[in-house]
Amino acid sequence: MRQLDVDVALLSVGPELPYLTGYEAMPLERLTMLVLPVDGEPTLLVPQLEAPRVVERPDVFSVRAWGETDDPIALVADLVGSAQTLAISDRTWARFVIDLQHAVPGRTWRRTDRVVGPVRAIKDAAEIDALRAAGAAADRVARQLQSGDIALLGRTEAEVSADIGRRLIDEGHHKVNFAIVAAGPNASSPHHEPGAHVIEAGEAVLCDFGGTMHGPGGVGYCSDMTRVVGVGSVPADLERAYASLLAAQQAAVASATVGATCESVDAAARDALTDDGWGEWFIHRTGHGIGIEEHEDPYIVVGNDEVLAPGHAFSVEPGVYVPGRWGIRLEDIVIASNDGPVACNQADHDLVVIG
Ligand code: ZN
Ligand code: ZN
Repeated sequence: MRQLDVDVALLSVGPELPYLTGYEAMPLERLTMLVLPVDGEPTLLVPQLEAPRVVERPDVFSVRAWGETDDPIALVADLVGSAQTLAISDRTWARFVIDLQHAVPGRTWRRTDRVVGPVRAIKDAAEIDALRAAGAAADRVARQLQSGDIALLGRTEAEVSADIGRRLIDEGHHKVNFAIVAAGPNASSPHHEPGAHVIEAGEAVLCDFGGTMHGPGGVGYCSDMTRVVGVGSVPADLERAYASLLAAQQAAVASATVGATCESVDAAARDALTDDGWGEWFIHRTGHGIGIEEHEDPYIVVGNDEVLAPGHAFSVEPGVYVPGRWGIRLEDIVIASNDGPVACNQADHDLVVIG
């Protein structure tokens, strides 16, 4: 905060508040806000009825519960005082931002992601353990898919999605964040919503799933992985594309060393697919950071010259999507370390075809 000349940080809903305090605010019309001055005592303002959920940390922050007839904006304004430069979290509701700008006029406003983001992007040992545990749990579900334990033929995408979700919980996640199941042509839409389509023989089924698992300080860390499973057989051109995809994904993982730029990891995947003639069908970035959130810094994308450091955690997930025909993606979570890239997902990377 001192480096960025921020006098007070104001944190509401979103990942930064739980990262710093262990408390996750509900996205309510009643304001929750941590008022964190560069010097002095941080205060967590919470609606009185939410206060019982706060695990108090008197060594870190004090709690002030506000009642139904209090004006929380006035309470924040009072704590802000004459501070000049205020940083506010990205996902604070616009109504609160606008009301605060009226309550304390003439200040300079910044975003707290510039303050907390760079700290949050580097995972410490406990966070890495939590990401690896979540990755191992997701891996166990992937193996159930690849062994045929999770039936595909004759079931709807929605049924398989629900099944994957239940298994993510059974394997130790406390929350399912998503379970994309996209069969045949549906997989050419990278974020297809699983629906009533009944999975048929000859289709490749793209499964991309992840959840949140409790980690250090009661804060949850995310898993996210993608595997493609064929039913009976798959189209010949898909099989050829998959061989290129596997090589591209592995090249990108291998390139994710400390000191490499994010865009060079993207280039490793993109160049490999382009060389094989599939580049035009790879329509998204190669990956995203992961932690408390499924998508966070650093982004593995063209134009991001940020240099990987030990503790950066991110997905490597190139894909090939041929509209109206099929789609494939292969995704692992990788952590940059001084000993080289550490993959959190080990489940078979090949295109597994089940009966
Ligand atoms: Zn994913
Ligand atoms: Zn992902």
